[in-house]
Amino acid sequence: MIEEMDFENRIVSPEYSYNDNDNEITLRPKTLNEYIGQDKVKSSLATYIKAARLRNESLDHCLLYGPPGLGKTTLASIIAKEMGVNLRVTSGPAIEKQGDLVAILTSLNEGDVLFIDEIHRLSRNIEEILYPAMEDFSLDIIIGKGPSARSIRLDVPHFTLVGATTRSGQLTAPLRDRFGVLLRLEMYTPEQLAEIVMRSSTILNIETDMDGALEIASRSRGTPRIANRLLRRVRDIAQVDFNGKITENVAQAALSRFDIDELGLDDFDRKMLNVIITNYGGGPVGLETLAAAVGDEAITIEDVYEPYLMQIGFLARTPRGRCVTPLAYEHLGLKPNSSSQQSLL
Ligand code: ADP
Repeated sequence: MIEEMDFENRIVSPEYSYNDNDNEITLRPKTLNEYIGQDKVKSSLATYIKAARLRNESLDHCLLYGPPGLGKTTLASIIAKEMGVNLRVTSGPAIEKQGDLVAILTSLNEGDVLFIDEIHRLSRNIEEILYPAMEDFSLDIIIGKGPSARSIRLDVPHFTLVGATTRSGQLTAPLRDRFGVLLRLEMYTPEQLAEIVMRSSTILNIETDMDGALEIASRSRGTPRIANRLLRRVRDIAQVDFNGKITENVAQAALSRFDIDELGLDDFDRKMLNVIITNYGGGPVGLETLAAAVGDEAITIEDVYEPYLMQIGFLARTPRGRCVTPLAYEHLGLKPNSSSQQSLL
């Protein structure tokens, strides 16, 4: 077990943290034009939005999937804005009873966007309310109990459901089939993240040059939320210890102070990779065993930590478990030597 680490406040976690609050509202792009990267998603959406507007109809239900912090909530609010309708935000775990969803659906206005984050976490009996609502814009509600119970059908306004999930595989087939538009968000390139850092610097009134922005971007693990968070942390150090301007040197100095290396790995990543190497000969090691060894939940490791390590080719998922790749050994200054590593070479 690795020593106590503050997972909640991990600077490079892609998940939303309370401290991001101010940032997220001011920095969130408001139109598709302001939204940087994800060109395929943007051009599909632009077409669907234009077509729906021409026909004067609500937009088809959209499912957005991809790791946390890539801009799913932002896209939902852009969709509402571009369609000229209101946005209603909720999440799978927040809808506990069928009545909660009925109340939300009946309070919508014609054309509104309903955003359900973590939609894979909706319970089955709530999903069942959603099916006729998505398909026919109606609700089947049972009133009363026992022999006097009767079912009534209620119409709801034509709305657009925008669902977001980090794990599309966990969505039930009937729910997934009811989405007309499926959009997968990809991790951002350092150049796109640098553009996001420059845009955020302008909004927050921070003087940042392109090399400084690129330095922050290349350590942001493909994720805009992390890029914006690192920008704020680097700004603090730039103001206190330098002349306030974020250059390549200032960004490097600040980020190494937080132990975030040039690829954006922090202590947690290095320790996790080291645990696999030292305790399990580089792998394969099962997810549950690994979770117990690093002291975090398997689901967090899978959804939050692994995607980036796999994206940069440091971790491989095999049917027998997780393996550290030779590239990761090299980055950590170690030599791959076990037989399991040879098979990955
Ligand atoms: P998710 O819902 O996927 O977890 P969010 O939509 O909340 O992610 O995005 C996190 C933050 O990252 C937003 O507040 C926004 O400032 C920034 N962001 C996300 N995508 C983009 C983008 N394409 N361009 C600029 N900023 C972005």
